Amino acid sequence: MKLYQEQELKIYNSLTNQKEVFKPINEGHVGMYVCGPTVYSNVHLGNVRTFMSFDMIFRYLKHLGYKVRYVRNITDVGHLVDDAEEGEDKIAKKARLEQLEPMEIVQKYTLDFHEILQKFNFIPPSIEPTATGHIIEQIEIVKEIIANGYGYEVNGSVYFDVHKFNETNEYGVLSKRNLEDLVNNSRELDGQSDKKNPQDFALWKKAEETHIMRWPSPWSDGFPGWHLECTAMSTKYLGKRFDIHGGGMDLKFPHHESEIAQNEACCGTTPVNYWMHANMLTMNSKKMAKSTGNNILPGEIFTGDNPNISKGFAPSVARFFMMQAHYRSILDFSNDALLASEKGFNKLMEAIKTLDNLKPVGDTTSFNFDVWKRNCYNALNDDFNTPILIADLFEAVKYINQLKDGKATILPETLVELKKYMHTFVFDILGLEQQTGSSDDGDALTGVVELLINLRNEARANKDFATSDKIRDELLALGIQLKDGKDGTSFSVS
Ligand code: AMP
Ligand code: ZN
Repeated sequence: MKLYQEQELKIYNSLTNQKEVFKPINEGHVGMYVCGPTVYSNVHLGNVRTFMSFDMIFRYLKHLGYKVRYVRNITDVGHLVDDAEEGEDKIAKKARLEQLEPMEIVQKYTLDFHEILQKFNFIPPSIEPTATGHIIEQIEIVKEIIANGYGYEVNGSVYFDVHKFNETNEYGVLSKRNLEDLVNNSRELDGQSDKKNPQDFALWKKAEETHIMRWPSPWSDGFPGWHLECTAMSTKYLGKRFDIHGGGMDLKFPHHESEIAQNEACCGTTPVNYWMHANMLTMNSKKMAKSTGNNILPGEIFTGDNPNISKGFAPSVARFFMMQAHYRSILDFSNDALLASEKGFNKLMEAIKTLDNLKPVGDTTSFNFDVWKRNCYNALNDDFNTPILIADLFEAVKYINQLKDGKATILPETLVELKKYMHTFVFDILGLEQQTGSSDDGDALTGVVELLINLRNEARANKDFATSDKIRDELLALGIQLKDGKDGTSFSVS
């Protein structure tokens, strides 16, 4: 019997705005699509949070015994600046600014994305398709949509006819907007646009002379609209109707709303059974975003090289910080919050080390292991509630510390089970790793580096800058970066 047959997983479906028992289309199999990054700059911690939520979800579905096909795309064309309908492609713009080929930009930031996700211990998706690799599929969908009467061509560009679609379908089902309100809130077309109505969106855009990223099509040399790629890639690999579609909350409208409309217009069915939306990471209570500069890069978290933090943090500490919030809650990033998470993380890791070295004691178990395990699963089954899971894990930490102090007892078979399930929840499902700060080696290293920091301070006080620079540079060569701040010098290990 598979674990998923014993556990009743409930998922909050953004389409119905309620928690629903998860039932995949094909028993034992899950198809999951998550909108991937637009690879025109380094991913910031906000992007990482959304992908991390789905990494945890992927991990739990696999743990339950499902065979999961997880598709997460790379957007390498079609996403215009400001998510607009007109204007420059984000990647082409960056290519112009950096004087590189668009595909050099794509390569550079795809590599960065992979490298960062690896540091955070992500499991790679089953398929990672690119928009430029699926132009033919996108053109085919545009043809279908036109043939079914929901798309129209003007001057080489093709648009989705939202009003026509809304006569027989409902545009706005996901974002709970209705077309009338959208019409009232739209600005008039400025006369430059080829669209019939401002609510229509591009399926195919004719490329201007200067536009480098272009492909031949029946309508013009051009490029696909942003929403189309996800329809093409999700249906190609998961079918016209599949189980889970995820992404950040900010993609609900217009991106996901348009995906639903495109799918209905071309395939006659709504594409997704469970829509899942991850909430935003904020900093100073404002959404982290590339465009506003209100963001922090993962690399800066690791080194501490950002004015918003006092020191570097291990990737697993940042991961633990994010897992302490439910994926549908807003999470505010701050130095204090990270410092608190680091303490909690170290306590958890210490407890696991203690547990791994524990020997059974006594002839009873003074802990209700079965209830504890049930609670852990209940938390995850309740729409992947990781903060509740972590609270349960700390119940076990308390017990482990009592065992260490000889204040509690455990039978051999329960000890084996406790070790197994602590590892399962902490490492397999939350995706944490034993990392710096908690080990004895780490303590020794901290001591040595602090000694060198003191020597460097003495040298500086004596104006012996040759020595102070030497200490800093040689530590840096060893991957230890010193950071001078108003509260003294801190360090981070890369
Ligand atoms: P992009 O590369 O801009 O297409 O975004 C990639 C993913 O990151 C999308 O799912 C966004 O919804 C998500 N995202 C962007 N900003 C944030 C944020 N501040 N917090 C959480 N997720 C975000
Ligand atoms: Zn998408």
